[in-house]
Amino acid sequence: MRIAGITHPGKVRRRNEDAIGWDEGLGAAVLADGMGGLHRGDLASREAVEEVLAELAAFGAAGETLHDGGLVSAVQGANRRVFELHGGRRGEAMGTTLVAVAATRGSRCLIAHVGDSRAYRLRRGRLERLTADHSLVQQLVEQGVVSAEEARSAPNRNVITRALGLEPEVDVACREIAVQQGDLLLLCSDGLWEMLPDADIAAGLAAVAAGGVAPAEGAATLVAAANAAGGVDNVSVVIMQL
Ligand code: MG
Repeated sequence: MRIAGITHPGKVRRRNEDAIGWDEGLGAAVLADGMGGLHRGDLASREAVEEVLAELAAFGAAGETLHDGGLVSAVQGANRRVFELHGGRRGEAMGTTLVAVAATRGSRCLIAHVGDSRAYRLRRGRLERLTADHSLVQQLVEQGVVSAEEARSAPNRNVITRALGLEPEVDVACREIAVQQGDLLLLCSDGLWEMLPDADIAAGLAAVAAGGVAPAEGAATLVAAANAAGGVDNVSVVIMQL
């Protein structure tokens, strides 16, 4: 397994409030997109990523096989860590989205997320989204009020309905997927998927899957493409090659 990633402030924002991290030994990667003024967003995302990786490492050190409860518990730990940073103080709230992938036994991976950072899988050239955003516009798509295409330009598309760190507990979405050699998993912040159509994301990943492009190079190419398309937000990409 090879994992590589890149995070970039984009073309418009001065600060980068996204954070990424991974551990090839654990087969785990985490990406978070923070929010909150006065550097609280970047602190929230960084602390959340570190906490999830630390809890997964502790889980592995205990010799336990990771299961969905273990990954959810790690994300809950990150939620508490961010919540405790501001102690629930009014006006000082900070939060973050988070998406995490962790290999478990056999050829399986667990995917957990909160908010609108996403995971995708590329298999034989076909891109599949593995996460459903916790956002107002996703709810409207599920209700059939707007189409997936209209959602890309909906005025409220950035309003998320769940985030880490706002309450002492958070509802974490988690699923297990089968993976096979040759698959690529992508974690990304909205700064990527809002800027690039799925076809461009798939093409960038396909170049890595074909073998001529290393995951780090593929990640850098996707970030550059998002910036070329406007780069209105921080943009982060992690690629896991199985
Ligand atoms: Mg963002």
